[in-house]
Amino acid sequence: MCGIFGIEGAPDAANLTYLGLYAQQHRGQESAGIVSWDGEQLHAERGMGKVAEIFDERKLSELPGGRSIGHTRYSTAGSSVIANAQPIVVMTSMGPLGIVHNGNLVSAMATRHELEAAGSIFQTTSDSEVFLHLMATRPHHEVVESLLRVLGDVRGAYSLLLISREGLIAARDPHGFRPLILGELDGQPCFASETCAFDLLEARPLRELDRGEVVVARGDQIESYRLPPVARASRCVFEHVYFSRPDSEVFSDTVAQSRLEMGARLAREAPVEADVVVPVPDSGLYGALGFSRASRTPIELGLIRNHYIGRTFIEPQQSIRHFGVKVKLNPVRELIAGKRIVLVDDSIVRGTTSRKIVNMVREAGATEVHVRITSPPTAFSCVYGIDTPTRSELIASDHSQEEIRRFIRADSLAYLSLEGVLGSVSGSPDSYCTACWSGDYPVPAESHGEPQAELFPLRLEAAGSRA
Ligand code: AMP
Repeated sequence: MCGIFGIEGAPDAANLTYLGLYAQQHRGQESAGIVSWDGEQLHAERGMGKVAEIFDERKLSELPGGRSIGHTRYSTAGSSVIANAQPIVVMTSMGPLGIVHNGNLVSAMATRHELEAAGSIFQTTSDSEVFLHLMATRPHHEVVESLLRVLGDVRGAYSLLLISREGLIAARDPHGFRPLILGELDGQPCFASETCAFDLLEARPLRELDRGEVVVARGDQIESYRLPPVARASRCVFEHVYFSRPDSEVFSDTVAQSRLEMGARLAREAPVEADVVVPVPDSGLYGALGFSRASRTPIELGLIRNHYIGRTFIEPQQSIRHFGVKVKLNPVRELIAGKRIVLVDDSIVRGTTSRKIVNMVREAGATEVHVRITSPPTAFSCVYGIDTPTRSELIASDHSQEEIRRFIRADSLAYLSLEGVLGSVSGSPDSYCTACWSGDYPVPAESHGEPQAELFPLRLEAAGSRA
């Protein structure tokens, strides 16, 4: 759960990166950082907290140069400390390198143990540092070749940006778990996790990086390389259900549209007699709207969210999570009292939030509370970069739907089917990762990362093409 942004060959690259991160703040609020290249050296600034809390004009002015990458982080591997904030910057025999990474490497621990046994000294506990260590141990006269060799040896999810004296490199893993978009701002290449970053900058989205594609940007030129393909794509469909911003286009679909469709399908799959549909803001908003339209039940914004606390779930400390719901949500009694409510949310994880919300709505006078969830029961942990608790903490891992209904004290509970979710996005159903619901992990969680033998020769795709 991270957002990344990078731009090449642009005046004030760090300022633009700041804005690109600002638009992607929803992808992580724990720490953020920017690194720039001024033609001679890298300049880096990182801190804990939100982008606007870390950077001011003075700090941005200390990040000169036309090449820059940045990161907003929520840790899924490695703890929440400044040492783990990205970009990670190191000196190597190939010159200084900086990296930002969205995703999670399943092979990181095994690789790290091997590297440490051979003498590597890690600065962080983040899986992302593994890329740099592997590169340092396999230097090549071109940074991109070193990276390509390394990517052949790692397993798991990565959308990453690498900054070096040679250029800005963007890479997406062969399964395509996480999004990564190539755009163009005044003729210069830029990269973002989500298109909402381009909207803010008035940059033009050009295309998603293909899975297994590595793009090198130098000035206004880009070159594209391919990693050896894997049989099928495994794009994280949870990006559509919960994680991405509704105004972003992810994997060729606008997130708001897919959420509307999920809500509409849910209304058809699990209809209920009720007076009003109430979304759990923000992630349930579009699903509820879709449900309301398809069921012809009026929608009321009966729960108000306090936007100034950040995503409680995303805060790593238990103490904050404990306060979560009350701090975050408050009912509008007049819209709820005396009514039969359909409460629409995107997912149930531990079940504790849903239970508190149902209780809150009842206390506000709802006569019935029917919970509708626009995804299947989350029964398995994500190992590819979405923060989910361990399996034993997932209420659906060992409870039936009826047990969950009783736990959250709803009058009825229904989830959207897997087919319903996959029918709400335009790609072929087998091109998405559904591991959190199905347990079907496209890359085994404990993979020890045997090297891919046939990495070379590399196929050069579009040498010299303009961004
Ligand atoms: P829970 O009480 O654990 O069932 O929390 C459910 C709420 O968490 C729902 O409102 C979801 O929108 C939200 N949610 C689902 N997945 C995540 C996640 N990975 N990170 C943060 N919040 C999430």
